[in-house]
Amino acid sequence: MTALLQSEHSILDRLARRLDGELVRPADAAWDEARTAWNLAADQRPAAVVLAESAADISKTVVAAGALGLRVAPQGTGHGATVLGDLSDAILLRTTRMRGVSVDPARRSARVEAGVLWQEVSDAAAEHDLAALAGSSHDVGVFGYTLGGGVSWLARKYGLSANSVRGAEIVDADGIARRVDHENDPDLFWAIRGGGGSFAVVTALELELYPVPEVYAGTLFYPLDGASEVLAAWLELTDSAPDELMSCGRLMRFPDFPFVPEPVRGQDFALVEVAYLGDEADGVELTRPLRELSPVLDTTGIIPARRLSELHMDPPGPVPGHGDGRMLEPLSLEAVDAIVASAGAPSGSSLLSVEVRHLGGALAESKPGDGAAIIDSAYMAFAVGMAPVPAVAERTAADVARVMAALEPWDAERDYLNFRESETTGERLFGEERYGRLREIKERVDPDDLFLSNHPV
Ligand SMILES: Cc1cc2nc3c(=O)[nH]c(=O)nc-3n(C[C@H](O)[C@H](O)[C@H](O)COP(=O)(O)OP(=O)(O)OC[C@H]3O[C@@H](n4cnc5c(N)ncnc54)[C@H](O)[C@@H]3O)c2cc1C
Repeated sequence: MTALLQSEHSILDRLARRLDGELVRPADAAWDEARTAWNLAADQRPAAVVLAESAADISKTVVAAGALGLRVAPQGTGHGATVLGDLSDAILLRTTRMRGVSVDPARRSARVEAGVLWQEVSDAAAEHDLAALAGSSHDVGVFGYTLGGGVSWLARKYGLSANSVRGAEIVDADGIARRVDHENDPDLFWAIRGGGGSFAVVTALELELYPVPEVYAGTLFYPLDGASEVLAAWLELTDSAPDELMSCGRLMRFPDFPFVPEPVRGQDFALVEVAYLGDEADGVELTRPLRELSPVLDTTGIIPARRLSELHMDPPGPVPGHGDGRMLEPLSLEAVDAIVASAGAPSGSSLLSVEVRHLGGALAESKPGDGAAIIDSAYMAFAVGMAPVPAVAERTAADVARVMAALEPWDAERDYLNFRESETTGERLFGEERYGRLREIKERVDPDDLFLSNHPV
């Protein structure tokens, strides 16, 4: 062992002693568990893992990493882990143990710590008849999702989760804990609301909540070979949809796994998911054209808002997957043909899901005080399949690429940080001007590029 390595080890030993949480190194028994991301296809091999329990742990980790010449990669769940890249010169800073959520019903806000999952916020908010701008899946982390933008089922009405952040507690590149908001370092506050994890470790967020106890929501299922008709009807519905209605047209091949519910297990469908902020009668009327196509299963009805996490039928826990997304301009019937040809019944596609979410509404409006995220396209597509072993992953990647290529004519020249799982440019993520501003802020707050994030600025 060289003198340098010895000194490195002594810095890590000292860090380990001073943490409320744990430092895990490659030789430790807990190594594999500590480095495993939600997306099991990401084989994360950092220099060390810190399982932080407090903002103080995060400060100590940042200072130690600086002294070691290592980088810091903050991670809550690892839903976004496949785009993180090489971690060998980084400490993977897992916030999984930081799970505090407190709701202030009078201020309609929640203070949420860095390891919290969306279902935990939705459940806490529901006790006060409030709703958060949660991700489609119960176990997506609040932080990666919100720092990258955050498109919820309520997004057409209330906008991005990033723009519902009222303040953030951070640890900066010097290891100093401070709050950023509209008054305190507003530039950095702007950058973290959509610019991702390149600027600081965010230890807590204050999020606005909305008075939404219930919604009209559910899924209409049809045989996959009727996909053209179903997607065309859905597209027409989106043309005149009020901001209160968010929907997704989708092709799904449900795997024959025990955790998949009986009525759909092992079967293929075209389907439309809807979430409507209004009463049942209006919801039924709005979705009538879809019902006229005789769905084989229709789960629509009034549900508590906290159960919106069931609507998209995301996996119940960690899985190995490969996916990618594309932001789209207004779609024509030719786009439906392209989706069906690349992923429909006769395509031979292996993908579990190809979805197109309707955007617009509040997402397309830019308000003073908004953050860096920009999601102004009409629709966004995401295609995903399983990647448990290299041979399957290769086939999935080819099938995903085929769908993305088929949608190229409708490309909005924009990518969404949270749905982009392949390399892209800052200009595509943010536009030239915003990306320039983000670069300037990065240069000021983290000139040594300490923070390693997916889609780095
Ligand atoms: C099943 C599934 C469903 C999804 N549904 C939606 C959806 O409905 N809408 C949507 O918009 N997106 C959705 N996504 C995409 C999701 O928003 C991204 O994968 C996001 O990165 C997940 O955040 P996370 O914290 O769980 O992931 P992580 O992988 O833990 O974090 C992703 C990145 O965020 C940054 N980060 C995380 N925590 C911190 C922190 N404390 N401080 C600083 N930076 C941090 C880091 O750069 C990290 O690499 C979904 C993804 C999956 C897999």
